[in-house]
Amino acid sequence: MTTTARSPAPPASAPGPAGKAPLRVVASAAGAVGVAGLDHTYTAAGRVTQALAGIDLAIKPGRFVVIVGPSGCGKSSLLMMMTGLTRPTTGTILCGGRPMTEPDPDRVGVVFQEASLFPWLTAQDNVEFPLSLRRVPKAERAARAREKLALVGLSGFEDRYPHELSGGMKQRVSIARGLVQNPSILMLDEPFAALDEQTRITMGDELLRIWAETGKTVVFVTHSLTEAAYLADEIVVMSARPGRIIDRIEVALPRPRTYEMMATPQFAELRERIWKQIRHQASA
Ligand code: ADP
Ligand code: MG
Repeated sequence: MTTTARSPAPPASAPGPAGKAPLRVVASAAGAVGVAGLDHTYTAAGRVTQALAGIDLAIKPGRFVVIVGPSGCGKSSLLMMMTGLTRPTTGTILCGGRPMTEPDPDRVGVVFQEASLFPWLTAQDNVEFPLSLRRVPKAERAARAREKLALVGLSGFEDRYPHELSGGMKQRVSIARGLVQNPSILMLDEPFAALDEQTRITMGDELLRIWAETGKTVVFVTHSLTEAAYLADEIVVMSARPGRIIDRIEVALPRPRTYEMMATPQFAELRERIWKQIRHQASA
């Protein structure tokens, strides 16, 4: 999996002062995420809540980064800003080298805890929906949606409606929809939190498989230490409100990850390192 192979060809006219180096930067930037000097304060009904403080984060293309922290520490707020759904009070967010000032599903696909599918549309039509907004011709959108449904393991389920699908299958449809515009980056906010434990583990494995097959950059938010340690290349640990980054952990566990790894001392050490930092911060 190389980051250059799946990126668009760089413009041939930009050699830059440092010889070939700028070309490589351009070629690999599609999946890069950068957050600089981010603070966020909510003001609602006269109440001021500082949600995030001094967030700086650089994510290299193709990495699987998990953001973990106690409930209410601002994980969802940060992800909403990284996806362009909300503007931070101060700070800059770059995805693929360009500012995220509004949602841009060509650059960043998004999956939430709730599958938020249209109940009156089939799996196929739910995945096609973002393409129909873009007026992509019917045949092309059908083919692209089918391809993404196959990627998430749902070939044969195209004509099912959401109420005919299990929770895990609905989240597979959400992932397919998030990927249908071929963004280089996929961001997920507690996508498996509402699933039973067995499905949650299966879906984690499925997401790892999809990540390995596609080479996307993945930013995954969770409050589960186990999920963080199991999935991540790197874990970003956040403090309680106002959320700050208090640790960044490189996960040295080999890939592919297996269920058995959860019983290793290395896995336990990882969990403990996170837990020691957030145990006194868990909100009541
Ligand atoms: P997490 O996802 O880590 O649980 P959130 O980002 O949802 O945290 O929330 C961080 C803090 O900001 C919480 O105290 C929450 O109550 C507050 N908050 C979140 N969204 C809003 C909003 N739209 N208006 C006011 N306060 C908010
Ligand atoms: Mg949240």
